Amino acid sequence: MKTFIPAEYEVVRDFNLCTACRLCENQCANGVHSYDEKRGVMVADSLQCVNCHRCVCVCPTHALKIAKSADCYRPNENWSSQTMNEVYRQAETGGVLLSSMGNPGKYPVYFDKLLVNASQVTNPPIDPLREPMETRVFLGKKDVEIKRDISGRLIDTMPPQLNLKLPVMFSAMSYGSISYNAHEALARAAEICGTFYNTGEGGLHRDFYKYSKNTIVQVASGRFGVHSEYLSAAAAIEIKMGQGAKPGIGGHLPGMKISDDVSRTRMIPKGVDAISPAPHHDIYSIEDLRQLIYTIKEATDYSKPVIVKIAAVHNVAAIASGVARSGADIIAIDGFRGGTGASPTRIRDNVGIPVELALAQVDERLRQEGIRDCVSIIVGGSVRSSADVVKAVALGADACYIGTAALLALGCHLCRSCHTGKCNWGIATQREDLVKRLNPDEGCKRLVNLLSAWNLEIQEMMGGMGINSIEALRGNRLMLRGVGLNETELRILGVRHAGENV
Ligand code: SF4
Ligand code: SF4
Repeated sequence: MKTFIPAEYEVVRDFNLCTACRLCENQCANGVHSYDEKRGVMVADSLQCVNCHRCVCVCPTHALKIAKSADCYRPNENWSSQTMNEVYRQAETGGVLLSSMGNPGKYPVYFDKLLVNASQVTNPPIDPLREPMETRVFLGKKDVEIKRDISGRLIDTMPPQLNLKLPVMFSAMSYGSISYNAHEALARAAEICGTFYNTGEGGLHRDFYKYSKNTIVQVASGRFGVHSEYLSAAAAIEIKMGQGAKPGIGGHLPGMKISDDVSRTRMIPKGVDAISPAPHHDIYSIEDLRQLIYTIKEATDYSKPVIVKIAAVHNVAAIASGVARSGADIIAIDGFRGGTGASPTRIRDNVGIPVELALAQVDERLRQEGIRDCVSIIVGGSVRSSADVVKAVALGADACYIGTAALLALGCHLCRSCHTGKCNWGIATQREDLVKRLNPDEGCKRLVNLLSAWNLEIQEMMGGMGINSIEALRGNRLMLRGVGLNETELRILGVRHAGENV
């Protein structure tokens, strides 16, 4: 018995406008559109549509739109159509449901419940067009005390730092998960903007060694593509202990995305699913983590900061405290809305906590323990705009990672089907015909535009608060007020309610 699962989306074609040019057919990797020779018209198989909007955007006559399907089950507040379809699918396949991108569930987005302060009268705002505004940040362990030699000169004992022109970096996205052209666009944009991109657990393609000054390389549990040259090439090395989209499990790259080139870069077989283990098999304690950190430092001559990436989970503050004491220079906290190329749907949608709460707790705990300056904090997992960056910094972050926003800049339409390898926008695919659709020059330009625009907005918001540097904003929670939050949420975030005076 096979249950008919109705289409989620409906392809609506205006036949008065359609010229049957077949461009939509040619552009859709999901095989939605075709030409009916007998009737002489274009037809659509809506069941295959993932709503990536490629056809809508390329149609020269604007004849197409995609609508939410009207075909629905009897309304039921408990059993949504999606839940029913998922049960049908699993009853047929016996398999784990896979998804991509971040948790789309109806959980509170705390960034949207926080409002930023503005200066008035006695503490006047600063005009960023006319006065200097410092958005540069240095990530890494800071010296606890300033030391001078006998003649008063500063003794520089500062451990290695990452020097960013603005507090935004591109988060870990592996070659394999995303295309060569997407990777190239990210690397080049990072170089132009004076920031960093991150290889994820996919290794570093030979062609991208030239961007190594702006590259963070990742060491994940599968150790894919990790070798001494890879470590030496990087500006910083990130140990991935957890990922916001799938805390508690390893990475997953579906076999159809493992091309010759990806297999060479990752040092894994072609065409076979690459599933990295849930734990690092040599890390079962903070002491073990410390060993790996110092092995990496030793291998790279203590010349690069080491980042430890953890997922935002229930006891994240205690974990971060351990990580800070393990010798890490930077902690990256990844929230449950963070993107992924492929994740079990149930994990993505039900595991982890909002990153805003995790960040506030980690910053608070490290301050209370007097070790906040021993590490920098990067936060990621659905940082969507410059306002989110400002709020994250005020909650205690030194800098933010952006992934989904960067992919949107490259043309992603959030269809959440990256795991199929059929990204019509040339981003999350290895199919040569699809990869070509993303022009790396154009992609790089759009990413540079995005970061430049955010940097201007960050300066404007800081100026409005009467603050002229990211350093002065970091952890400055008096600059935030909550709206519609309960006492517990306000306490965890460490902010007052809107309308409450200092
Ligand atoms: S791209 Fe537009 S005009 Fe061309 S066949 Fe498709 S719907 Fe018709
Ligand atoms: S990267 Fe491509 S496949 Fe993934 S969500 Fe965006 S448009 Fe869809």
